[in-house]
Amino acid sequence: DPTDVTKTVDRSKVYMADLESALHYSLRVEVARFTTLEGDRLKALYGYVNVLRKFFPARPYLRTLLNTLYSWLRLRWKTKISYKDFEDVLDNKKQSQKAVLSSDVNYVGCQGSKSEYRGFPCSVWTLFHTLTVQASEAAAQGRGKLAAKEVLYTMRNYVSQFFGCEECATHFESMAAESIVLVRNSDEAILWLWSRHNQVNKRLAGAESEDPKFPKVQWPTPEFCPLCQVTQEDGTVTWDLTSVLPFLKTHFSKNNIALDYLV
Ligand code: FAD
Repeated sequence: DPTDVTKTVDRSKVYMADLESALHYSLRVEVARFTTLEGDRLKALYGYVNVLRKFFPARPYLRTLLNTLYSWLRLRWKTKISYKDFEDVLDNKKQSQKAVLSSDVNYVGCQGSKSEYRGFPCSVWTLFHTLTVQASEAAAQGRGKLAAKEVLYTMRNYVSQFFGCEECATHFESMAAESIVLVRNSDEAILWLWSRHNQVNKRLAGAESEDPKFPKVQWPTPEFCPLCQVTQEDGTVTWDLTSVLPFLKTHFSKNNIALDYLV
């Protein structure tokens, strides 16, 4: 039950259920708002699926599906497609196998105290952070030096073409337009997204959309990363980036993804 708040959640973990829910909702609901896709919008979808197939820490069946979707789009991204045809590939109709991308959302770490809170936008942030960190790991292993930068640009395009919250998309685009070009490598890409997310947290603290059980804070709090925030003599709090970066790389690493509550 998606509104069941009795799930035991470890806030120091990332949940695969949230990551897969983000995929489910983006590909089956957000993209589905467009009956036909072409031009920049189709290109944004193609880029998104390409990044997912390369960096989403997918379980084997889902990885196969993402590769299939990618191969299908690679032949068509310069043309015009109908969402219906895309959905057939998503449902794996031709292979007549069981669908591997869940048919509903199942939020765990992103579950709100009421159904109107958290959920999808929370899972999108979780997905984006995970992808930048996974891409930087790939880069460290020699698979594409600029991988995490590619993730940022792809996310920017996804948000502007598909993200259903228009206010969010406008805010995100203005942050991206302001500073995304300054990002030079994978570490900076991880930190860029983290600091922009904190900027959003600051702006939204106390807003109507805030779940009272999950107040917006500057993250990670000392509870999760004791060395990340440094209180100066005058009382101001600054970040120690040499602690923040390894913290983010660990938090969004494969080893920290919990498989609980998967259906
Ligand atoms: P979220 O902010 O969604 O965070 C999810 C989880 O990520 C947290 O529980 C925490 O574990 C972790 N986290 C928190 N901060 C960071 C950080 N700095 N770095 C890494 N991980 C972190 N809502 C609006 O009302 N107006 C907007 O303009 C708006 N813009 C948005 C733009 C984007 C691109 C996205 C994805 C969402 C936007 N939202 C906006 C939604 C909003 O940011 C939250 O996602 C939503 O309110 C749910 O909040 P939450 O408490 O689940 O935590």
